[in-house]
Amino acid sequence: MKTIIEPFKIKSIEPIKFTTELQRESILRKAFFNPFLIPADDVLIDLLTDSGTSAMSAKQWAGIMDGDESYAGSKSFYRFEKTVRDLTGFHHIIPTHQGRAAEKILFSIVGGKGKWIPNNTHFDTTRANVEYSGAEAVDLLNETGKHPELKADFKGNMDTAALEKFIQDKGAEHIPLCLITVTNNSGGGQPVSMENIRQTKKILQHYHIPLFLDACRFAENAYFIKLREKGYADKSVREIAREMFSLADGCTMSAKKDALANIGGFLAMNDSALASKSRNLLIVTEGFPTYGGLAGRDLEAIAQGLEEILDEDYLRYRIRSVEYLGDKFSAMGIPIVQPPGGHAIYIDAKRLLQHIPPHEYPGQAVVSEFFRLGGIRCVEIGSVMFGKYDTTTGSLISPPMELVRLAIPRRVYTQSHMDYVIEVAENVFKNRTNLKGFRIIEEAPMLRHFTAKFENLV
Ligand SMILES: *Cc1c(COP(=O)(O)O)cnc(C)c1O
Repeated sequence: MKTIIEPFKIKSIEPIKFTTELQRESILRKAFFNPFLIPADDVLIDLLTDSGTSAMSAKQWAGIMDGDESYAGSKSFYRFEKTVRDLTGFHHIIPTHQGRAAEKILFSIVGGKGKWIPNNTHFDTTRANVEYSGAEAVDLLNETGKHPELKADFKGNMDTAALEKFIQDKGAEHIPLCLITVTNNSGGGQPVSMENIRQTKKILQHYHIPLFLDACRFAENAYFIKLREKGYADKSVREIAREMFSLADGCTMSAKKDALANIGGFLAMNDSALASKSRNLLIVTEGFPTYGGLAGRDLEAIAQGLEEILDEDYLRYRIRSVEYLGDKFSAMGIPIVQPPGGHAIYIDAKRLLQHIPPHEYPGQAVVSEFFRLGGIRCVEIGSVMFGKYDTTTGSLISPPMELVRLAIPRRVYTQSHMDYVIEVAENVFKNRTNLKGFRIIEEAPMLRHFTAKFENLV
């Protein structure tokens, strides 16, 4: 068998709208060239994010109907709690409306001024929640992860030597916990090895610092471990996921990723005192501990999704379909983060558009061109998302990479949709030397990429 096919058939469809290039130019101008400001109805293929965009299964929809909407102690909560506990092994399971709500609660409790939170790479909302608490978020990515063109198996790994040095420098008492993000979203969707999680845990244990997983894509990470790490080929993805969680003291999770749900998340942990504080805060900001900002039906969809995500036929198709896109991009000469990650292809805009410097946002130029030529929506992950201003000189401090992410929603698009994306990419590539940079004309002080307005430089 050569072709890895979608391991499902389609029961319900949603039409997508075709537009002309002229229409799309006007749509772009109206949205100030910010993909987040484009009405979704005007998008043909939406690769903005894989978050909350999954197609739910017939069983998940059945769960939506079956959801118990009791305020306290609903049966849907108990199903959700049991599913998450069986998967993670954590004792305390706290539902939240999204991953960032779990982060907000966690860092409101353990964060604060004078504290440091290390991570392989903080996702944008994680960093924002750490910083909002007054603490500092520090990325300690291993060296291979910093070289987009380099092919390696586990480019999401934590730099464990840097972590140990960091703990000694800052003092363990100022580090309330350490995170590992699996897979490493901001670092290219690259996986973290079991060995690296184990090493990290060993170092942290010595200093009595708890380890939390940012577990949004735990199943994709577990599947990469099965494919790439010695000793795991014959283990089930469920066993591998369990082992990953067993090395941690807790996790934050967005159910909008590897729970195949459209909304939801959770915070889980073993520490009872921390759980008790978390639940108190949950009641103030999210809801009663048996629904935590979600409807009973959402808890059903998440519980069912967490079962389906571990299906290895699904994961084989998932990882292969992302790799397929990446292989085609590479073959036509588009530089991408290598090897392709679990949920997205990341174009290296710095190398693709060498005539546009980081402060003129080369990634934004690529994003804009994908939409203009093909109605495809993707997102910049570079100076727009992570750029900061030097407080004394006011000049832009750019992150190491200028990437453009094409995230693949789970179970939504078919192979021919992907072939269309490849054709559009070919045209973006052909027209690359004509692309111009951008200037930001309006921005918010935090998470500016969501609302910033841009002007094309001429
Ligand atoms: C999506 C995501 C989050 C935040 O989850 P939301 O549900 O969007 O609030 C946190 N960390 C990582 C790695 C993510 O991908």
